[in-house]
Amino acid sequence: MRRNTQAVVEIKFMPRMRETDLKTTRQFALPHSKQRLVFIPSALEAFSNCRQMRGEPEGGGLLFAQFEFPTIRILVVTRPHRTDGRWMTLFVPNRILQRRTIKNKFKKGYHFIGEWHTHPEQNPTPSGLDLKSMREAFLKSNHELNYFIMVIVGNVPDSLVLWVSAHDDSHFERLDEHQ
Ligand SMILES: [Zn+2]
Repeated sequence: MRRNTQAVVEIKFMPRMRETDLKTTRQFALPHSKQRLVFIPSALEAFSNCRQMRGEPEGGGLLFAQFEFPTIRILVVTRPHRTDGRWMTLFVPNRILQRRTIKNKFKKGYHFIGEWHTHPEQNPTPSGLDLKSMREAFLKSNHELNYFIMVIVGNVPDSLVLWVSAHDDSHFERLDEHQ
């Protein structure tokens, strides 16, 4: 009996998203343009499922969108793969696999526009390494925007805290969320 009681107590404290958090889209304004970035609920769910709340390693993946300017709708978010390198404060994706995924998605009409990963912090901000790798990714990758999007997912249990920024080869800017 005691064990059952304890199980109930533990369930009560399990981090749970408010249901409404993942049913609606979230929108971010792109700097110096009327464009807006829209994340659909399944994309938000992929981020949410990887939050680092109990000592899990970093996770991440790629962002794929379709364009109906001024709306850039993020429709597909890839999840971590078993061949990715994952540590508490470092995520090293399998780049060969990613290049293949980018080609396959493009054939299906999904455009590669950036990357996401998690951080073990509540209000995530990019590390020096994140900024450097975004610069390199912008220069090296085949993408169809004049910037590259980075999402960093925080580890707050009851809400989905996101850092969203646009990067080119020399600058980056954080995107404001539309309320
Ligand atoms: Zn990072």
